[in-house]
Amino acid sequence: MYYVFFTGTAGSGKTTAVKEFRDYLLDQEMDVAVVNMDPAVETLPYTPDFDVRDYVDAREVMERFGLGPNSSLIVSIDLLLTKATDIKREVGEIESNYVLVDTPGQVELFAYRDTGRTFSSLLVGDSKSVNVFLMDSFIAREARSYVSLLLLSSSIRFKLGIPQVNVLSKVDLISDKELEKLLAWGEGEDLLDSLGVVDDYSFELVRTLIESLEVPPIPLSSTNREGFDKLYAEIQRILAGGEDFV
Ligand code: GDP
Ligand code: MG
Repeated sequence: MYYVFFTGTAGSGKTTAVKEFRDYLLDQEMDVAVVNMDPAVETLPYTPDFDVRDYVDAREVMERFGLGPNSSLIVSIDLLLTKATDIKREVGEIESNYVLVDTPGQVELFAYRDTGRTFSSLLVGDSKSVNVFLMDSFIAREARSYVSLLLLSSSIRFKLGIPQVNVLSKVDLISDKELEKLLAWGEGEDLLDSLGVVDDYSFELVRTLIESLEVPPIPLSSTNREGFDKLYAEIQRILAGGEDFV
């Protein structure tokens, strides 16, 4: 069994990508299940095989504790830890080869609180896993935002401690010219130039970041499945050393 987590900033397209990637794998007759780990999502475009809202629902938490939306989300995510054993048991009953895991809208709540790491290691156990990190290409068009998203990606890679694939999500929303620029940045080209004048600290930081880029972010669109073959190949390369694992 292989776990594929989808993380990224709020609205970066995780839920949509999970749905489309599941359908894409199903079209190839692969055995795939979907886990929703977002306690605050209202409607899902897919029917999850496991839904964390059966254990903790951010709406209920909001009403029960009289909290606003932000604090109820934090409390919900922390509450998940108290139900970890039950959740682990139920998710463990899934027998599909691939388990796609949709994570909470706000990546910092999932990745930077204990929940993220605990859940990713608990759910996964001895199975292999990979984290797909979505960088919203509409936001990444701006050089400073691109660098900030790369830094966020590194930070999450470090925090979760599992192999990661970066993708540029929603590329159908940007022009060919903008995409070309993003692809060049992904290869480490032109990024410093595009940033214009930066202080010494930023210069060194970006230089180090470019050097540490292993694989350039993969352009992806859940609208037209652009990049899905590439994403699949990259996930497969990481998980199974290039072997097919249908
Ligand atoms: P999440 O918060 O990361 O789970 O993001 P969602 O999957 O809920 O997507 C946020 C918004 O972006 C929704 O309105 C989606 O329809 C839209 N969206 C997601 N992926 C794409 C994409 O590939 N192309 C376009 N054009 N819109 C997308
Ligand atoms: Mg979502």
